[in-house]
Amino acid sequence: MDEAPLKPIRDVLETIRERVDYAISRLKSFEEVRSLGWQCEGCGHVKKFTRKVSGETARPCPKCNGVSFRPA
Ligand SMILES: [Zn+2]
Repeated sequence: MDEAPLKPIRDVLETIRERVDYAISRLKSFEEVRSLGWQCEGCGHVKKFTRKVSGETARPCPKCNGVSFRPA
């Protein structure tokens, strides 16, 4: 039995696995970012917190209901 035809399939699967690993690591880094202030990317409103929180906690924006924030 010739194994050669399997190699391209294995290469594709390994490429997919690398991309999935990369996507997961990006998600983790987003979850782990903590800040005292988050700025809405829609209207620029800054939400302040008394302790460091993740971007998830800042959502949504009270002014424009935006869900996209960056550390401020
Ligand atoms: Zn906003």
